[in-house]
Amino acid sequence: MSPARPPASDPVAPPRRPVPLALTGSRSRAAKPPRHLADLDLAGRRAAVADLGEPSYRAVQLSRHFFGRYTEHTDGMSDLPRASRAALAQALLPPLLTAERELSCDGGTTRKTLWRGFDGALVESVLMRYPDRVTMCVSSQAGCGMACPFCATGQAGLTRNLSTAEIVTQVVAGARLLAAGQVPGGPGRVSNVVFMGMGEPLANYANVLAAVRRLTDPVPEGMGISQRSVTVSTVGLVPAIKRLAAERLSVTLAVSLHAPDDELRDTLVPVNRRWKVAEVLNAAWDYAAVTGRRVSIEYALIRDVNDHAWRADLLGSLLAGRLAHVNLIPLNPTPGSKWTASRPAAQREFVRRLEAHGVPVTVRDTRGREIDGACGQLAASARP
Ligand code: SAH
Repeated sequence: MSPARPPASDPVAPPRRPVPLALTGSRSRAAKPPRHLADLDLAGRRAAVADLGEPSYRAVQLSRHFFGRYTEHTDGMSDLPRASRAALAQALLPPLLTAERELSCDGGTTRKTLWRGFDGALVESVLMRYPDRVTMCVSSQAGCGMACPFCATGQAGLTRNLSTAEIVTQVVAGARLLAAGQVPGGPGRVSNVVFMGMGEPLANYANVLAAVRRLTDPVPEGMGISQRSVTVSTVGLVPAIKRLAAERLSVTLAVSLHAPDDELRDTLVPVNRRWKVAEVLNAAWDYAAVTGRRVSIEYALIRDVNDHAWRADLLGSLLAGRLAHVNLIPLNPTPGSKWTASRPAAQREFVRRLEAHGVPVTVRDTRGREIDGACGQLAASARP
């Protein structure tokens, strides 16, 4: 039986929770994950090693092992004296995330991991191998405070921010599998990282920015992934987009727009009540101007909610001539939701109208659907 749908004229039900007000900073009540070398820059790691009475070059040795060879245990680090290994491990390589469940599909080339943090918090990451690249989709928070009603993560609220190292270790775990040849297609590397797992990256700004630096700085500082291959996706926290632009990085910005008009966007992305479509897009165009990077406009197509031809035309007119492309995502319905993906004809018409405005469009591949690949669904199903 198909779920009951509101008629097209029905207003979209308002979200159950008010607009989130605590947009930045971690909750003081939440305990902090243990410090890990990936939380620190190389100078900080040198200082931490010196605090243990070890020569500071041990920081470089540890960093090469962790970021270059993805080694997580000091027993595998033969260039460290045996007597020093336990203390170094305890100070700089504490276990952070434990794999709770692993699911795979697409012949093993899509792999999703549900991780449990030191405090029991659950987060997810997904590895997707394509012929020409490997993308890691990572979480930046346990849960999310943005309350978007179509998103599984948004339903559960925010648990806490992830630390820099908790974000980085999701990518390192994928890199380790690939380097060991454990993903079909032979040994490989992580080429792309997208902050499109659980959480609002720009609401955990400092840790996400440090993670971007760790991911993109060369070994031994970091993993050496190209900045251009990193995408930070946001609901549209305007001050944080401006701050990110000022960092002068070459990372791609993705804006989860989902509606071209404030009336509908106020309900689909509740933070729109604070920063309107026009403000969000202006911040995006400033980002594109400063970085030279094309902004990705994310738009989940929801049947009879945001997939109308007139909305395609309005979106097309807002984006025409801008350094932008649209990534249409067929809605992945969350359990119990009355919403579903658009009909194929409506999706085709939406694409056609955007293209008629000269706006580049792609329809996102829906990999991982059968393993609850989208947006918090695995963590939601694991919750008691
Ligand atoms: N908080 C950030 C990043 C995480 S979500 C953001 O909102 O951009 C990554 C993308 O998946 C966002 O564009 C989000 O709107 C979209 N998304 C969430 N739930 C979805 C669902 N059920 N179906 C399709 N896309 C979804």
